[in-house]
Amino acid sequence: MTATVRTRIAPSPTGFLHLGTARTALYSWAFARHHGGRFVLRIEDTDLARSTQESVDQILASMRWLGLDFDEGPIYQMQRLDRYHAVVEQMIAAGTAYRCWCTPDELDAMREAQRARGEKTLYDRRWRPAPGKVLPPVPDPGSGVQPVVRFANPTDGIVRWDDLVKGPIAISNHEIDDLIILRPDGVPTYNFAVVVDDWDMAISHVFRGDEHINNTPWQINIFRAIAGEGAPLPQFGHCPIILGEDGLKLSKRRGAVSITAYEEAGYLPEAMLNYLARLGWSHGDEELFSLQQMVQWFDGSHLAKSPAQWDPAKLAWVNAQYLKQADDQRLAALVAAQLAGRGVGAAVDDRLAAMCALFKDRCNTTVDLADWLQMYFAPVSPSAADLSTHLSDAVRPALVALRDRLAECPWDRPGIAQALKDTLAEHRLKMPLLAMPLRVLVCGRVQTPAVDAVIALFDRGTVLARLQHI
Ligand code: GLU
Repeated sequence: MTATVRTRIAPSPTGFLHLGTARTALYSWAFARHHGGRFVLRIEDTDLARSTQESVDQILASMRWLGLDFDEGPIYQMQRLDRYHAVVEQMIAAGTAYRCWCTPDELDAMREAQRARGEKTLYDRRWRPAPGKVLPPVPDPGSGVQPVVRFANPTDGIVRWDDLVKGPIAISNHEIDDLIILRPDGVPTYNFAVVVDDWDMAISHVFRGDEHINNTPWQINIFRAIAGEGAPLPQFGHCPIILGEDGLKLSKRRGAVSITAYEEAGYLPEAMLNYLARLGWSHGDEELFSLQQMVQWFDGSHLAKSPAQWDPAKLAWVNAQYLKQADDQRLAALVAAQLAGRGVGAAVDDRLAAMCALFKDRCNTTVDLADWLQMYFAPVSPSAADLSTHLSDAVRPALVALRDRLAECPWDRPGIAQALKDTLAEHRLKMPLLAMPLRVLVCGRVQTPAVDAVIALFDRGTVLARLQHI
């Protein structure tokens, strides 16, 4: 690749950063890193009614959590209005844009008439200047009608591009009309601002969702009008949508939640990235790979043409693999945060790290881990069924003897193992008969890793207190 690779992600702050955008952000980021290029974050905030600061903050937090660092930005479109206005004026002067004073009522009537004739509803270009054409009279300034500015789309020809994902695409200019590029309030529309920005920011590659394929012909035409026929167009890669488990498009109503919701649900960012990467891209049969490997491999090829299906079970599996390898001190901090959210205080220390090491193999998320470790920091409530099953009269004397030994023994795994062993020998019992009620009373549950290892991580006082009323 000779020219500098420059990619961008351009979310609209009208909601949270959703999974599809996070995936194209990852592809754009990895592609820039692969080529030693630059990655830009642009906030497309021209939808004034729907854009919010809260959403901007959430987008930034999601990017930070995922670790997708950008080299430039965030650049806000609403801070670039002067630039868009200047381009509009140049285009009007060059004849590639024009003012249109149609009122909404006129446009409705135009579409109504087209429908009645069985035609496609396209703007009829009544305000588009042409040699010898008489334009409608400009409304009196006192009338309050403000013009929009429209792009003078080429009336003939075919717009073609070779999509990095979909392959060659061609759309006839007959299919598209003269798009509004500037609203009456002076705010540009998406298809115009995006082109000015991609041109000004020298974007070389655009990865985005395939809902934008229909916008791309306008964007290419506007690009040529602004940058000139010979200017190098960005290369476009339109990634298919992500389908929900039900095979329908992921939406806010159907399972799509923010990236930050996955953070709260106990997923690790590297697992999220690994899973998102595979959802629409492959490198052979590799399922688990580091971000460095992805950067090494991601050259824009092997992007899937057909929609991928969101698979929560697979994501949980990927997360479990990363959890197993994760540093225990790091997990301790994450679990402490989860517990704090439940009002349970736990210090981030070596003991909590040791608990994470003991339990992480059986967890998919740090929420699962917190579910396990909560027993160390908050009271447990064994179920009546477990108590009646495991706490029989036959075993009570042995439990009392064990409690006495636990009050005296060295408080570590070998010391506790010895106390158990001695009690079993003394009462001629097999391990499960003693271990099960011990688990129920101390841990509030019947299944745990090796009981001596589990007990050793409690403080002695807690264990003795839970064995008080046998
Ligand atoms: N603001 C657009 C969106 O969020 C950006 C599309 C693009 O990348 O061009 O869908």
